[in-house]
Amino acid sequence: MKKLQYERPVIQRLNVGVMNKFGTKTEYAPVTHIDGVSVKGLIGKHGSPLFVISEKTIRQTFKDANRAFKTRYPKVQFAWSYKTNYMNAVCNVFHQEGSWGEVVSGFEYQKALKNGVPGSKIIFNGPDKTETDLRLAINNDSLLHIDHLDELYLIKELAMDMKKKPRVAIRVNMDTGVYPMWDRFGFNYENGQAWDAINKIMLNDCMELVGLHSHIGTFMLAPSAYGVAAAKLSDLALGIRKKYKKNIQYIDMGGGFASKNTLKGSYLQGVDASPNFDQFAEAISTAILNAGFLENELPLLILETGRALIDEAGYLLGTVISNKRLSDGRRATIMDFGVNIMFTSFWYDHKISPAQSFSQYTEDAVLYGPLCMNIDVIRENVTLPPLKRDDHVVVHCVGAYNMTQWMQFISLRPAIVLIDMNEEPHVIRKRETLGSIEGDEVLPNYLKDFKI
Ligand SMILES: *Cc1c(COP(=O)(O)O)cnc(C)c1O
Repeated sequence: MKKLQYERPVIQRLNVGVMNKFGTKTEYAPVTHIDGVSVKGLIGKHGSPLFVISEKTIRQTFKDANRAFKTRYPKVQFAWSYKTNYMNAVCNVFHQEGSWGEVVSGFEYQKALKNGVPGSKIIFNGPDKTETDLRLAINNDSLLHIDHLDELYLIKELAMDMKKKPRVAIRVNMDTGVYPMWDRFGFNYENGQAWDAINKIMLNDCMELVGLHSHIGTFMLAPSAYGVAAAKLSDLALGIRKKYKKNIQYIDMGGGFASKNTLKGSYLQGVDASPNFDQFAEAISTAILNAGFLENELPLLILETGRALIDEAGYLLGTVISNKRLSDGRRATIMDFGVNIMFTSFWYDHKISPAQSFSQYTEDAVLYGPLCMNIDVIRENVTLPPLKRDDHVVVHCVGAYNMTQWMQFISLRPAIVLIDMNEEPHVIRKRETLGSIEGDEVLPNYLKDFKI
């Protein structure tokens, strides 16, 4: 018999009830139910992995945000950022709460129209609006947010051709004290590009300049940056009032407020590190109110907040496939969901809770997804009670971007369930099938036969 190769034994330290940098552990209570609906029941019925969205959390978060702004500023309008999560059910909850639609492509624009958003309440952002998109949006009297001069000239051409006067705004980028600066979108404030675009619109009389827009970044942790941006947009609006005797109807502050997720490398957890809506609202409203507008000329304040409104409402339920020891002795747990459906694990340390009760022991582990790819890491280091094959987990705060940036790679994308206000689950997107994936493929006839 051949001698077996020696495998080094590992002595693994298990922790129990020890202090960590935040005191004693409280994070790992099992999550067996979401809004009263059993996690095991959901997985049993709809399979694993499974995205779950809480309608209660969406509506509550929206109300918090709305109250934060409406108690500080007289005229406020939210517009739902479609790219953050464009499941129609999700969009419609926001529309029921009063949000307009904010889109960045022709496809999203069509979706908003189909959902029943009046054209005049759709904000069209983004650098890539085709001529067809623009014609449709101009016919529907939508708000066109101009990103670059080529777009400005194209809109002018279309306006003359269609004998219409489109309502437009310009996107303005600026130094808000947060770096790297997002200066690739729109026209720069400091170097005069913004004024150049304004003059080109005002002196051409083919478009109506109704608003000024900025979207200074994403997952912003500094409310003061929004104060700076709001002051700079207000300055432009007052300058336009002075030079052209024209009132700008709205100032759109875009999105980018941080959600409660924890950024990789952050010392504090997201719940403690991220500012709340009141802090963002205070910075923005103070800047506009103090800018010098006459009382009856205060612009409408538009907000296109995405992730901060939806992240916490989304959960991902999953199942343990296996455990193994890495060559250095670390525990590795392989889950049935990977970065293909949880894109945000590239920049967040998502909170993950076991879905069943467990012993008081914990061990540091690496959480891997099921893909045959080395980059498929869900958590590089997480302290969890040891999970067994077929145990379930609940990943928190995955409502933003995962359901739009997910890729169909190696495995089929899971179903999405919305739990309504009465704690009833509804499938809002079916699990993908081979048929739904191959539906658009075409196999040329000459490739159909082979002998191997
Ligand atoms: C993506 C985007 C938003 C939403 O950003 P969040 O970071 O999700 O709040 C809003 N406005 C514009 C123009 C965007 O591109």
